[in-house]
Formats: sequence, C-alpha cells, structure tokens
Amino acid sequence: MLNNILSLFVKPNCPLCQRTAKQIICQYCEQKLRSCQLIDYKQFSDPNFLLFPWGKYDSYLKQAIASFKFDRKKDMGELLGMWLGEAWLECGWGKIYKKMTVIPIPLHPEKLKTRGFNQAELIASSFCDVTGYQLKTNLLIRVKNTEAMFGLNPQQRKTNINEAFGLGKDYHKINKSQPILMIDDIYTTGATVNEGKKVLTQKNLKIIGVATVSVTKF
Ligand SMILES: [Zn+2]
Repeated sequence: MLNNILSLFVKPNCPLCQRTAKQIICQYCEQKLRSCQLIDYKQFSDPNFLLFPWGKYDSYLKQAIASFKFDRKKDMGELLGMWLGEAWLECGWGKIYKKMTVIPIPLHPEKLKTRGFNQAELIASSFCDVTGYQLKTNLLIRVKNTEAMFGLNPQQRKTNINEAFGLGKDYHKINKSQPILMIDDIYTTGATVNEGKKVLTQKNLKIIGVATVSVTKF
C-alpha cells in the first residue's frame, strides 16, 4: 500500500539504463527494444503447431530478459508480456481464438524458491490482461528439477527435460474443449515446449502452440 502511494510520486529509473523514465522503461530503451521485434513470425510455425515469438533473443531484448529474470525487475517482464499480447492481437489471433486457456511453462518448486517468481507466469499474466484469455498456472506442473538448459546441446536438452512435466490440479477445473497456449520467455530448440505438449496431448487436450517473448534462431 505504502509502496503504491510512494510510486505515485517517485518514479523508479529505467531498469535498463537507469535514466529517468516516465513509463516502465525510458523512451530510448523502448525504441531499442522495439527494434528487436520480429516482423515475420510466420516462418517459425509448422501447420500443426504455432510458434509465436515476439522478438529476437539478441542485444537489447537479451539484456531486458536478463534484467527481468536475474535482477528481478518484474515490471520489465510485465511490459514484455503486454507487448506479446498486443502483437498477438495485432496479428489477428484474437479473432481466431476468442477463448483460450493460457499456461506458463512451469518452474520446479525448488527453482521457484530460489528465483522467487516464475518469469513465464509473469509474462503469461500480463499477456492475459491484454488478450482476456484465462490464465491457469496449475495445469502443467514441473515434477522433475532439471538442470539449466543453457550450455546443453539439443540431445542433452531433450534428455534433461524428459518426463519433467505432469498435470496439476487445474486439470480438473479447465474447460477441456478450449484450446491451450503455452507461454515462455525464450524459445531455443523447442525441447521444453515439446515435452509440455506431449503431456497435454496424452490427455487429449487441445494444445495449439506457444507464444514466447523471444526466439534464439531467427
Ligand atoms: Zn532506459
């Protein structure tokens, strides 16, 4: 409460460059970040599975994701989730999928304890604020505490993530005929997403794809 009142008077500096900022980030960084946005996302999807990335995992966007994830600048994540939602609507997906269940790629409870928050959940939450979709954070759950994927080759990533997911209590609460979209911060080889997809498909759930803030190959 006090923080909320204070924030009306004291605007925090831009988390990326420490300049004063009227919004979450300063105009200069906004411009730089927007230059990372992909113009053509269609090249990433295949006919049966949608991959909707907002931008290139490079330069400023990479820095923004790191500041959000590791320096815990949650506002940054909310902003990226909002931009992802806006891009989703601008591309017309909101007209095709009027209702949808949105699920963040989950963290293992141990990792959640260390990091303090799940970055994908924060992105998904603000994505849902923009799109009006339903957020479910306990449908896909992490049952295996996997190694960080950074530095692993594609085969190692696949082995690492194998059997990492299960279904949580939201499975009994969702409308099972409604399409499902996964949300993540970075898409690399797709090993994580494929593993999540496997668990949902086994239960005949309609997983249509993943929307992600960034993609490493572009
Ligand atoms: Zn800035």
